[in-house]
Amino acid sequence: MAQQIQSIRGMHDILPDESGQWHWLERHARDVLERYGYREIRMPIVEKTELFKRSIGEVTDIVEKEMYTFEDRNGDSLSLRPEGTASCVRAGIQHGLFHNQQQRLWYQGPMFRHERPQKGRYRQFQQIGVETFGYAGPEIEAELIAMTQRLWDVLGIADVTLELNTLGTPESRKAYREVLVDFYRAHLDQLDDDSRRRLETNPLRILDSKNPQVQTLNDNAPSLHDHLDDASKAHFATLCALLDDVGIAYQLNSRLVRGLDYYSHTVFEWTTTALGAQGTVCAGGRYDGLVPQLGGKPTPAAGFAMGVERLLELVRVQGGADASYRPDAYLVLAGDAAQRRGFALAERLRSDLPQLKLQVNIGGGSFKAQIKRADKSGAEVALIIADDELAAGTITVKPLRDRTAQQETVPYETVIEKLSATLA
Ligand code: ATP
Ligand code: MG
Repeated sequence: MAQQIQSIRGMHDILPDESGQWHWLERHARDVLERYGYREIRMPIVEKTELFKRSIGEVTDIVEKEMYTFEDRNGDSLSLRPEGTASCVRAGIQHGLFHNQQQRLWYQGPMFRHERPQKGRYRQFQQIGVETFGYAGPEIEAELIAMTQRLWDVLGIADVTLELNTLGTPESRKAYREVLVDFYRAHLDQLDDDSRRRLETNPLRILDSKNPQVQTLNDNAPSLHDHLDDASKAHFATLCALLDDVGIAYQLNSRLVRGLDYYSHTVFEWTTTALGAQGTVCAGGRYDGLVPQLGGKPTPAAGFAMGVERLLELVRVQGGADASYRPDAYLVLAGDAAQRRGFALAERLRSDLPQLKLQVNIGGGSFKAQIKRADKSGAEVALIIADDELAAGTITVKPLRDRTAQQETVPYETVIEKLSATLA
């Protein structure tokens, strides 16, 4: 036998037993987004590498070591997208979606990052992302957060914490950056190699360090909040007040800086302790600088992205809804004559009951084997046609789940009535 080929490490198949759960989450997410007036945009999975270098930044983990970059046959450098924001902004500029307009957009799809695979961290993973353009005030940030809270409620997700911070205007962030660099320079001996490198390239990221020694140093680092200008403070205060108005709780976290360079003002993350180390299920913020950085006119922007695998795992550990796919009925066809009649009968049933999910036994098999398959399909009832039913023009309806219910042999019209009552 030829050797089997396996999928790539960190890239997973979503098997039929799991896809129902994915549909369930995607359906609810789309529903909630549409209730707030968001419209879907679909972008290519591959973009010019330059796009990510210019948006995410050359000195971020993503661009430095996580991207799937390759040359295509023309010698152009292309990359599988590691996130959706850059593509969305590129598309918006390219198609003139931002000029004198406001946009509320969402997308979903696979993202690719060459990280060390572990639970909740994959090399291909799925995001649902939201981006807004043309809204400068904190109201849109409040809306983004309220919308995610509503989605958690719909999905039955509890035990998530909203962490909130502000990075202020680019000017106040820049002023703070200088203060911070001075501070770290005075404590160089306490920085690890990674942090020293970041000191030159992206010093705010040192605040995010997981190294305990650096974390101790960070406890004494100057706080960004002491360097915010009045406009930044007012923006953030309004956001907090709006969240208070609708009763959404948050934790202020001055360490929350996010990995990407393009954020300003609000940054937020929804985190949970229920998933171990990979506890961030949704992250976002304001990124007013990105559209001009990619060649567009200055455009205020804010958005977020959620990790679908982590959300599904959270639903699972919290004992959430089981949404796996099941047909409503399984058609058992005992004998050659019944098999012949079954095909047309199934089509007639589907025409008469558009909401019916009906699976037909194909390939024969003994009556017992077919009932076994019916049971395994998860269907609520088996519809049986054997010699007796054929002769009498009837169908036997056999309940497969409800042990107290009796099986009945009835005319076609009665089957339609019974099924439509249970499907309604
Ligand atoms: P983390 O700190 O976990 O690496 P991140 O800051 O790199 O996350 P973002 O770029 O903000 O993540 O992406 C938004 C969300 O996408 C994350 O909050 C997470 O839920 C999900 N996500 C990011 N990277 C992965 C991955 N490799 N595998 C699965 N989900 C991921
Ligand atoms: Mg990451």
